[in-house]
Amino acid sequence: MEKVIIIGGGIIGLSSAFYLQEAGYAVTVIDSTDMQQGCSYGNAGYVCPSHFVPLATPGIVKQGLKWMLNAKSPFYVQPRLNGDLISWGLKFMKSATREHVERSAVPLRDIALLSKQLYETWSRQHGMDFSYEPKGMLELFKTDGSLHHAEETLTEARRLGLDARLLNREELQAMEPGAGIDALGALFFACDAQLYPNKLMSSLLTWLQQHGVQLEVNQEVTGFVTEGGRIRGVKAGVRHYPADHVVLAAGVWSSGVAKQLGLRIPMVGGRGYSVTFENAPYKLHHSIILSEARVAISPMDGNKIRFGGTMEITALNAPPRMQRVQGILESVKRYFPAYDIPVPAADKVWYGYRPCSADGLPYIGNTQQYTNLTLATGHSMLGISLGAGTGKLVSELVQGVPPSMDVTPFSVGRG
Ligand SMILES: Cc1cc2nc3c(=O)[nH]c(=O)nc-3n(C[C@H](O)[C@H](O)[C@H](O)COP(=O)(O)OP(=O)(O)OC[C@H]3O[C@@H](n4cnc5c(N)ncnc54)[C@H](O)[C@@H]3O)c2cc1C
Repeated sequence: MEKVIIIGGGIIGLSSAFYLQEAGYAVTVIDSTDMQQGCSYGNAGYVCPSHFVPLATPGIVKQGLKWMLNAKSPFYVQPRLNGDLISWGLKFMKSATREHVERSAVPLRDIALLSKQLYETWSRQHGMDFSYEPKGMLELFKTDGSLHHAEETLTEARRLGLDARLLNREELQAMEPGAGIDALGALFFACDAQLYPNKLMSSLLTWLQQHGVQLEVNQEVTGFVTEGGRIRGVKAGVRHYPADHVVLAAGVWSSGVAKQLGLRIPMVGGRGYSVTFENAPYKLHHSIILSEARVAISPMDGNKIRFGGTMEITALNAPPRMQRVQGILESVKRYFPAYDIPVPAADKVWYGYRPCSADGLPYIGNTQQYTNLTLATGHSMLGISLGAGTGKLVSELVQGVPPSMDVTPFSVGRG
């Protein structure tokens, strides 16, 4: 049996393990942590074909500069004299064009739809319980400017064949009776779904264990054994794992691991925060995005609600900034005046680092430098949404069979 070593046990690594195991490989997942709390756990859990626009868009640079002056704003870049950050920033600005947004829409839609279909299969055929609910998502807006933007997004969503409609104030209240929403209206994306990421991850871990996948926790990959354009083995401290194929899915840390192989993957960490309440008085039927505030509200798993947001481009060891959590909860009150949510103690606040590629598209592909290395990283705000689909594509790339969709836009060597 051929051995595949997967570096990273987040949603991308575990989804890849799932499909590689099904394809008949002997799979080992190596993670530097206990695989219980990373970025794939405390996120908003949206499976969202509606997110066909990448982070790098025209106007985001100007808007981002304004936001940077406000400690509670949705976007922040910690100024640092760091070569990788500067190079990422230049690539990000180069990508923030209308042409790039137009080019990205179809591949982002297709991988999200593939992923959504696979999550549906997992939840039915594989008996995994992760509170998957295809109930759609509401994007609330408060200003005329945002209404105009919503109309443009709706036109594009329909062109892409996605089920979406615009709701006025009254129609919105009818969708969420009793919530007392203060908003002009909303875009309703019936095409979107919600899941509970913590349960998704634990279901996957259980399934993988039951199906013979080796899970190596608290093992940090520190080097490789290479020979003539192939990786022969992976080193984690004193341990050595022989490999016929390697999948690099170490989230934001993938850049550092790739450097050990002499590869450059432009990526930075986009830190986000969330707080989760059980049996709270805040009752909502749908997942909600507050457009202007860039905050996500996820009613999940029956009795839970999660408030999350903020994109903070910062050093991976910087202490958390509680003002940003305060900013998230204050934004919620602007749309839900009855919601007085206190900022919880720091140990009740979760945060994680989105692996942000410079152009907002993931890297999913084989590399030119090593014939047996596949990369699956850089999913930024969409790792859950695109997770199952990415896993399937990774398995196909390792097998060398035609992939379920065109992966050229996600190629590792793109400019
Ligand atoms: C507030 C917030 C809300 C979000 N909401 C959503 C959402 O609603 N929908 C959505 O699709 N996405 C969302 N995201 C983004 C999503 O969470 C990420 O894109 C996704 O979790 C990334 O998964 P990953 O597997 O690539 O990385 P990770 O989950 O970070 O996993 C990488 C793993 O690699 C391991 N690792 C690192 N270095 C090494 C090493 N040297 N050796 C071994 N192991 C290593 C790490 O320990 C880690 O476990 C959100 C993110 C945040 C912060």
